[in-house]
Amino acid sequence: MIKVKNLYKSFGKLEVLKDISTQIDKGDVVAIIGPSGSGKSTFLRCLNLLEVPTSGQIWIEEEEITNPKVNIMKVRPKIGMVFQHFHLFPHMDTLSNITYAPMKVKGINEADANQIAIELLRKVGLEDKAKEFPIRLSGGQKQRVAIARALAMEPEIMLFDEPTSALDPEMVKEVLDVMKSLAHSGMTMAIVTHEMGFAREVADRVFFLEEGRLLEDTPPAEFFSNPKTERAKAFLDKIL
Ligand code: ADP
Ligand code: MG
Repeated sequence: MIKVKNLYKSFGKLEVLKDISTQIDKGDVVAIIGPSGSGKSTFLRCLNLLEVPTSGQIWIEEEEITNPKVNIMKVRPKIGMVFQHFHLFPHMDTLSNITYAPMKVKGINEADANQIAIELLRKVGLEDKAKEFPIRLSGGQKQRVAIARALAMEPEIMLFDEPTSALDPEMVKEVLDVMKSLAHSGMTMAIVTHEMGFAREVADRVFFLEEGRLLEDTPPAEFFSNPKTERAKAFLDKIL
């Protein structure tokens, strides 16, 4: 589903990603873990070209998106993204937040888009909030709307960048539960997270990044009990 080959990314002189090669198969759930500043967000953003790699190649399904000839606007709808700070449209109610892109980008008519949105709101447990504006929602509710909005484009891949890091503790579970059910539905997912319990339970693989290098690609049971690298061991010792 996703293939990455010799990916490098620099911001000016700062080399942030160094020679990352990996593959994420259809239905895989990957938890991306590592210290602050290790390049986790940059890696995720490269996967949908929100950041343009300095060198290397990325394929989404058969399409090499790093080939300048590829129209990224055609590929991007396949990839949903959820951010730490939700990024909902503040001037639109929940329903319009969800229907906006399907109508605008996919040309779906309003009635159909509304129906899809209501079904998705039900899925994330917010069917009674369709007419509410973001400012009236809790953080956990906002994040569930953001997930529903991403799903409305029927993506093949979902990328999450610390989706629960901005939430009050009591709201973390309601968001993780939605992500867990999405994982169980077979969605291909890459999730930057500090929720080690979630990573251990839901992920098929753990990527450990440090200083821009992908140091581990390890099943969670092994990663958390017996990491391959000293660096990962030191990181886990600090946080667990
Ligand atoms: P993480 O998500 O693991 O905390 P990031 O990918 O956000 O790490 O950042 C990795 C490094 O790249 C950091 O040193 C950060 O300051 C730098 N960086 C990230 N985005 C930019 C940018 N747009 N311009 C310059 N430097 C950046
Ligand atoms: Mg980050």
